[in-house]
Amino acid sequence: MKKTLILTTALLFGMVLFLGAGVTETQAKTTFVTIGTGGITGVYYPTGGAIAKIVNKKKKEYGIRCTVESTGGSVFNINAIMAGDLDFGVAQSDRQYQATKGLADWKDKGPQTDLRAVFSIHAETIDLIAAVDANINSLADLKGKRVNIGNIGSGQRQNAIDALEANGINWKTDFHAESLKAAEAPGLIQDGRIDAAFYTVGHPSGYYKEATSGVRKVKFIPIVGIDGLLAKYPYYAKAATLMKNYPGAANTESAVPTFGVKATFVTSAKVSDSVVYAITKEVFDNFEAFTKLHPAYAGLTKKAMLTGLSAPIHPGAMKYYKEAGLK
Ligand code: GLU
Repeated sequence: MKKTLILTTALLFGMVLFLGAGVTETQAKTTFVTIGTGGITGVYYPTGGAIAKIVNKKKKEYGIRCTVESTGGSVFNINAIMAGDLDFGVAQSDRQYQATKGLADWKDKGPQTDLRAVFSIHAETIDLIAAVDANINSLADLKGKRVNIGNIGSGQRQNAIDALEANGINWKTDFHAESLKAAEAPGLIQDGRIDAAFYTVGHPSGYYKEATSGVRKVKFIPIVGIDGLLAKYPYYAKAATLMKNYPGAANTESAVPTFGVKATFVTSAKVSDSVVYAITKEVFDNFEAFTKLHPAYAGLTKKAMLTGLSAPIHPGAMKYYKEAGLK
């Protein structure tokens, strides 16, 4: 009896050890990493997908499995990374700057000291599209109209407000402002429920392809009167949106003047050096393959991917840049 008990206990103990070892082994094998992006018709979503595709190819080597989440955009991503709900995210360079310094959406929360830059990616422009039948030819013509300035959590919302304010337009009182997610706007323009919409995105994007291919004709409105804005904020630069990407648009000019920012890849100081190193290394070592994954990356250089960053560069990324002679 005693012997059986000892034997059973020994067996049970052995099993616990065995199971325990099994669990630790699987945990050590796979690190799950989530990347926050934007709406599915933007460029952040395929960008998260492109990074995940490159990194997941080396799952055996690094034990990293990247997944991508569609989100409300830049501000949402930064806040979710800071809360530990996302590991990485794509965010506009202006939003990275504001979060680092505790400005705009982070005025009350203060500087996000754990925010870390990894690299920057494609250029984005701030654009305003309007239905041709709404007779909107300038920002001033938005008065009294129904205009989407973007959801709370998006990068574009503050860009739209800045462009409007620079032109003396009050978004709270001069028109009916909507706070819709970008993915919904083209459909609502087509349904006649809104007249115009702002968005900050790389090109070409599914969003503008959809917006310009409906029955209700849509055109891009020049965003001018922004010299003061460009002088005031270091993260804004003059830009132009090329109409060759959207042959369905009602525009006749080849490029529409506006301003722009950059899409950047960010993380938290709490994410391990080894994970950030592996992701940075795979994207840069497979640069040619990466840039082929979306037409918005045309003309991208490795050097340019180290510009537009205002948060400290994560040490895991820095280790790679030093090794590669990029820093
Ligand atoms: N720039 C937008 C934002 O920060 C997202 C654009 C995209 O999804 O490509 O919210």
